[in-house]
Amino acid sequence: MTQSSLSNWPPYNFSAGPAMLPKAVMDKAQQEFTDWHGTGLSVMDFSHRGKDFLSIAEKAEADLRELMAIPEHYKVLFCSGGASFQFATVPMNLLRNKAVYVDTGIWGKKAIAEASKYGDVSVISALEQENGLTSIQSESRWRLPDSFDYLHFTTNETIGGIEFPETPGVAKGRLVADMSSNILSQPINVEDFSVIYAGAQKNIGPAGLSIVIVREDVLENSVPEYVPSLMQYKLMAENDSMYNTPPTYSWYLAGLVFDWIKQQGGVAEMAKRAEQRSSMLYSFIDNSRFYSNPNLSKFRSRMNIPFILADESLNEKFLFEAESCGLCYLKGHRSVGGMRASLYNAMPIAGVEALIEFMQAFEQRNA
Ligand SMILES: *Cc1c(COP(=O)(O)O)cnc(C)c1O
Repeated sequence: MTQSSLSNWPPYNFSAGPAMLPKAVMDKAQQEFTDWHGTGLSVMDFSHRGKDFLSIAEKAEADLRELMAIPEHYKVLFCSGGASFQFATVPMNLLRNKAVYVDTGIWGKKAIAEASKYGDVSVISALEQENGLTSIQSESRWRLPDSFDYLHFTTNETIGGIEFPETPGVAKGRLVADMSSNILSQPINVEDFSVIYAGAQKNIGPAGLSIVIVREDVLENSVPEYVPSLMQYKLMAENDSMYNTPPTYSWYLAGLVFDWIKQQGGVAEMAKRAEQRSSMLYSFIDNSRFYSNPNLSKFRSRMNIPFILADESLNEKFLFEAESCGLCYLKGHRSVGGMRASLYNAMPIAGVEALIEFMQAFEQRNA
């Protein structure tokens, strides 16, 4: 395989976030950009209280409810501030006496650091090594305090590439999950959770928006006086996420993504594709001596696949050549090094095929 025959791909964006959106969504947004549905106006400058934006907002919520089978007694909030904002918002609304946080990587640690500012946090350090591979400690070995308000975990650790294969069985109904990097990639049972939150920029839409799904009884918690209005779930819910001006354009784009997922066949179809994409890349990596992934297969993320080269001095060359072939943002997180390919819902199979073809050719030239 020569360099030139590898360079005909459209650019594929393997960034961990902000990540690629479906091409069809981009095209639709472009089409509607200056004239939404014959109004002659852009969604960008609709009043958030006008009927046009309200119809966009309501459809986005209805589609998300349908996709995730969100029961009536859960509210859906469209918030600004990203997932990190929720690291503080969750304890402010839910932490009264003690909360349990499961640490499976960098995002979990950040959530722990933030929650610890507001109350008593009991940490389960759940990452372990098994035969040199990273895995998640079995929940039967988690040491839980006698009583706690909620158990927080990160369904997919975007940086380490570690994903819970299923929802933990402990504390069902009292789970709080950061689903930023794998929301809408598989069916889940919302009723296992008190709160689900996700920053939008991986599987939903542009950065800055986050989605919060919160069970109604949680809204009855009294919140401390100091909690900013915009961080009170109850107030946000009472105002349909429009206590202040919401991130309207991001909300609209998220709605286009939800609609696209529905058209593709819903979350079950997203799960099928995620499985297909990730198993193609993992099996290529496992069959090569040149590339490796540090995680035990049961806990490997379907969304973010870190890998290292046997000869790390080739990293820069790998990234430079990949980029020149249209394979973008493969550099690993600065805390991990190596490479990382993020394969979110919007990544077509052809993107993974292109990556594998490139990796194979790179190995042949450099091994
Ligand atoms: C990206 C990410 C975040 C941070 O999101 P921000 O919008 O930058 O605050 C938090 N948690 C996980 C799991 C993520 O992947």
